[in-house]
Amino acid sequence: MTRAFVTGATGQDGSYLCEELLASGVEVHALHHAPSSPSLAGQAWAEDVVWHDGDLTDAAAVTALVAEVEAEEIYHLAGATSVAASWTDPIGTSDLTGMGALTVFEAAWRLQERSGRAVRVVQASSAEIFGSPEHSPQSEATPIRPASPYGAAKAFAHHLAGVYRGRGLGVATTILYNHESPRRPVSFVTRKITAGVAAIARGEATELVLGNLDARRDWGWAPDYVHAMVLANRVPLADDFVIATGVAHTVGDCVAAAFAAAGIEEWQGLVRTDPAFVRPVDPAAQVGDASHARTTLGWSPTLSFADVVAAMVAADLTMS
Ligand code: GDP
Repeated sequence: MTRAFVTGATGQDGSYLCEELLASGVEVHALHHAPSSPSLAGQAWAEDVVWHDGDLTDAAAVTALVAEVEAEEIYHLAGATSVAASWTDPIGTSDLTGMGALTVFEAAWRLQERSGRAVRVVQASSAEIFGSPEHSPQSEATPIRPASPYGAAKAFAHHLAGVYRGRGLGVATTILYNHESPRRPVSFVTRKITAGVAAIARGEATELVLGNLDARRDWGWAPDYVHAMVLANRVPLADDFVIATGVAHTVGDCVAAAFAAAGIEEWQGLVRTDPAFVRPVDPAAQVGDASHARTTLGWSPTLSFADVVAAMVAADLTMS
C-alpha cells in the first residue's frame, strides 16, 4: 500500500487531495497544526487520515516526523493561503511558505538518503511566482518575477524544488492558477461573490461590495488541480507543470455568472466597489498554458468557469 504524507491537509486543496488519495487506497498521514486549522469534526474523510500534530515552522519536528512516517509520496500544500494577507504579515508568510517548503524538501532528501528508497515530493507552487507577467499565457518557461510577499515566498520554494531535483530528489511542482470550490474561504473573491449572491437570493443581504472588478484570473475547479498534483507526483520524471484552464475571466464576469446561476436578472444596482478591497499591487491578468501537463500528465480541466461558479452558488444556496 502506498503511503502519503500531506501538509496543508485541512485546507480546500488538502481536503480534496486526502479524499482522492484515500479513495484510491493510499494510506494518508497528515501534518496537523491545531492553532491554525479549522475543526475537522463532522468531516468524514478526516476520520481515515492518520494525523500528526506539528508546526511547519519547527524544522526539527517536521524532519523527525517525515523520517518516522517514511512516506513514498509527499504532498506539500501547507503555507499562507492569501496573497492579500501576505502584505500585512510578510515575515510570517515567508517563514511558513518559503522556509516551510525548504524544511519539507530537506526532510524528504534525508529520508531518501537514509532509506535508499526513492521519495517523491510535489510542491504546490503558484501563478503568483510570475507576478505581473509581460506575456500571456504563462508557461513553465515564463520568468519568475513575483510582485507580492506571497509570490516571493512561493518563488523561493519553487527555486528550491529545482535545486533539490538537481540533487536527485524527485520534486515536482504544480504551478497552480486560481482554483475554486464550495470549500474556498470567503476571503477569496469567487466564494465571497457566490456566498454574497446566495445571501442576496435568500433576502439576507442587500448588496455585494468588492474591489477591482476588472482583475482577470484563470479560475479552475479545485478537485481537478489536486488531481494534477497526484499525477505530477507519479510521472516518471519530476518536473514543473503549469496547471490552469487557459481561459481568463474578470471579477465582473464572476459576479455576472453567479447572479445568473442564482436566477437573479436585475443585479447591477446590487454591486458596489470599495477602495478598501483594492490591493496595493495586483497582477492585472493571469492565464496559464497547461500544455506540458496535458501532454506529459494527460491532465485537463473537467469544469468550465461557468460550471465552477454554478457549483459554488448551488452549494451556497443550500447553506443557511
Ligand atoms: P488571488 O488571486 O489568489 O489573490 O485570489 P483572490 O480571490 O483573493 O483575488 C482574485 C482577484 O480578485 C484579485 O485581483 C483581487 O484584487 C480581486 N478582487 C476584487 N474584489 C475583491 C474582493 O472583494 N476580495 C478579494 N479577495 N479579491 C477581490
